[in-house]
Amino acid sequence: MQAEVVIAGAGVVGVSIAYHLARRGVRDVLVLERATDFGAGSTAKATGGFRAQFDNEIEVRMSLLAREKLRAFAEETGVDSGYRPHGYLFLACNDAELTMLRNAQRVQHACGLAEARMVDADEARALSPAIGDASVIGGAFCPTDGFLRPLNVLRGYAEAARRLGVRFAFDVELRDWRTNGARVVAAETSQGVVHGNVFINARGAWAGAPVVPLRRNVAATVPTDVFDESLPMTIWSGDWFHLRVRDGRVLLLWPDDPPVDDDAWLAAVLRKTRERVPRLANIAIGERWSGLYEMSPDEHALLGRSADFENLYVAIGSSGHGVMHAPATGQLLAELIVDGATSFDITALSPSRFTG
Ligand SMILES: Cc1cc2nc3c(=O)[nH]c(=O)nc-3n(C[C@H](O)[C@H](O)[C@H](O)COP(=O)(O)OP(=O)(O)OC[C@H]3O[C@@H](n4cnc5c(N)ncnc54)[C@H](O)[C@@H]3O)c2cc1C
Repeated sequence: MQAEVVIAGAGVVGVSIAYHLARRGVRDVLVLERATDFGAGSTAKATGGFRAQFDNEIEVRMSLLAREKLRAFAEETGVDSGYRPHGYLFLACNDAELTMLRNAQRVQHACGLAEARMVDADEARALSPAIGDASVIGGAFCPTDGFLRPLNVLRGYAEAARRLGVRFAFDVELRDWRTNGARVVAAETSQGVVHGNVFINARGAWAGAPVVPLRRNVAATVPTDVFDESLPMTIWSGDWFHLRVRDGRVLLLWPDDPPVDDDAWLAAVLRKTRERVPRLANIAIGERWSGLYEMSPDEHALLGRSADFENLYVAIGSSGHGVMHAPATGQLLAELIVDGATSFDITALSPSRFTG
């Protein structure tokens, strides 16, 4: 096999890159995927949150570009991305948490996210009837944050990429890069050697150092109409316990740190739910699943040319934000590869920041 650009990994990130390269005129893009179909990795496990409320400039800017692209997604790809601006509501239970949210909001405003605003406890409760926790003193809300459908975004880019001539090779596992000096010359795979000019690592949680996988759990209630789908993502900022409604079930999440075993995780989530969301106290859990975050050492993505090889690029380490940022990730990497410059400065995501 041979291609101009060889991408390893057909998750939402690899597929978005493939589409954006093809749209910029790269005619010979091949995506290698070790599974037999799309959706084998973390993308299918994601709950579909979208937010621009970050505490740092680069991630706010990634989200703003992604949001613009999600709004135009159906027109561009023919598939509904599922973007629904029901908001993200971060809750504070003490002054330190409120200050942290206020400081983050200053960064957001400076980047142009004008609609993000602080709310008092009464407004927080009005926005999210899930809150049954007397210790909430206020929070931060952004009405253009909300939700998307991870597999719709993946499918939209995959279908549009195929129409532009991108090839997908399933059941092909990348084993190693074959190198010659400062260049990668081929991908060594389970199905033989694939030659190319440009290579891209988009293998998600399996990308390799410095990215490490981190297991994350989700508990979904049985179907219930206690809250409707317009409930904003509601997050206790002290420990990131959060909930949303998807397809008639309430999804409960809590990023345990350090990780505990699955039963201890569920027991903690049920306790937090009883204490903070009493309206869910008697509603059973219907389903649980887990998946992998792709963590980088500083929890920001690595996006750009690899530190080691001049024609190897990486789009990895989104650290749990990979779906929401995928539209921006694909566009920015395609710009870098084709034009040598990006719409905005992505130096903060430079892969070389982790090399001596
Ligand atoms: C429980 C949970 C909830 C989440 N919620 C959200 C959310 O609300 N919003 C959000 O933005 N993100 C969320 N995420 C994170 C999100 O899922 C990831 O950031 C995103 O899916 C990363 O996309 P990807 O394409 O890099 O990875 P993946 O979707 O994992 O794709 C990588 C692909 O590479 C393939 N691959 C791996 N190794 C090889 C190899 N050697 N050769 C060939 N192919 C290979 C895999 O099979 C896979 O298909 C969540 C994750 C989890 C686990």
